[in-house]
Amino acid sequence: MTAEDPEAESATPGVPERAKPAKAARREPPAPKRVMSIHAHPDDQEFTVGGTLAKWARAGSEIVTVCITSGGAGSNDHTPADMTREALVPIREEEQREACRVLGISEVVFLGYEDGMLEPSLELRRELTRIIRRCEPDAVVCGDPTMRFYGSMYMNHPDHRVASDVALDAVFPSAETRLIFPELLAEGLEPHKVRLVFIHGSAQSDTFIDISDQLEVKVAALKQHKTQMGPWDPTDMIAEWAREQGAKRRLKAAEAFRLMRLHES
Ligand SMILES: [Zn+2]
Repeated sequence: MTAEDPEAESATPGVPERAKPAKAARREPPAPKRVMSIHAHPDDQEFTVGGTLAKWARAGSEIVTVCITSGGAGSNDHTPADMTREALVPIREEEQREACRVLGISEVVFLGYEDGMLEPSLELRRELTRIIRRCEPDAVVCGDPTMRFYGSMYMNHPDHRVASDVALDAVFPSAETRLIFPELLAEGLEPHKVRLVFIHGSAQSDTFIDISDQLEVKVAALKQHKTQMGPWDPTDMIAEWAREQGAKRRLKAAEAFRLMRLHES
């Protein structure tokens, strides 16, 4: 155990039992039965949680990917100067479908919001609540809306912050509260309790999924986003990220999450 290992504190004499992190937190959680992976853009999922989803899909999880935008603003680097949003959207949607096929995910939902212009609106929260109640996931996977800066070279995209903020608000309290969005009851959508939320890209990661055997498939899925990758091979960068995320648990390759356990199973 190292000094920065938060669980090292659990061995400190005098720390009350209830303040100690559960031993179970150290173990990798089993693949949830039903999973919803919510992101702002095509390729966000593959960069961040593709290894975990591939692992869970092979373990039998049913996974639905929700893309709030279809990435119509795309990359400046690998798309021709005369590319329009209208032309790019169907290409990126197909790239996302291909990436999901590689990961073992059969359902992708595009909500059709404008890339680069997401706002934390009640309309978006209602849509995410609707789809959560319809699909009834045990676990939701999303980003961390509190993260604005990563190191000194990347400021988190505003769409990423909004997507994760609204996803969390949809999980709680909206999806599980009967009289929030009562119009959904009229659609036959009863409240649903999401048990687990896996939050990637957090500064407080406490759960580490070993993706040593999924690195290859993660990279293969990411490569389906051809309009974004261009000739660049992401293999080394993905391996390095996975190594960094696994270091805390001495894993060769991992994806790290802050795990919220909202309800007992
Ligand atoms: Zn993105």
